[in-house]
Amino acid sequence: MVIETVSESETFAVGEKIGREAEPGAIFALLGDLGVGKTVFTKGVAAGLGITEAVSSPTFTIVQIYEEGRLPFYHFDVYRIGDIEEMDEIGYEDYFYGQGVSMVEWANLITELMPPETVWITIEKDLEKGFDYRRIEVRNENSGN
Ligand code: ADP
Ligand code: MG
Repeated sequence: MVIETVSESETFAVGEKIGREAEPGAIFALLGDLGVGKTVFTKGVAAGLGITEAVSSPTFTIVQIYEEGRLPFYHFDVYRIGDIEEMDEIGYEDYFYGQGVSMVEWANLITELMPPETVWITIEKDLEKGFDYRRIEVRNENSGN
């Protein structure tokens, strides 16, 4: 599935819908270059889960946990991960295979750890279509979409 947006609020709304509809144990991989809108999207997902607390990128930790929403929300940013063993050290399996919703930015760096049911979301710019244009591709390997 491909969704095109032309503003920050539209990208936020796409995330919000995903957050509203997410089921326990859902896991999302979020890919895209710096400044493409991953944080905007993730804030939308959090809002859709009913989280009111401010969501930012987990800069100093690999995972940021939000418990106040409809389901627990585990926001990972693995960009600065040095070794895949760091994931074991934080006990990632409890999150990935738990009853909350996991969102993993830069999941391409840890593909071997991503469960088969992962929904892969890629955000890209296309400057020919304007500065604020974003192409959001949502791919579920299992359903072949
Ligand atoms: P990332 O987390 O991927 O580095 P951010 O979400 O922090 O990116 O920033 C995205 C930037 O792009 C914001 O400044 C936002 O206002 C801007 N922007 C412009 N158009 C869009 C759009 N269609 N969707 C999302 N963000 C957009
Ligand atoms: Mg970000």
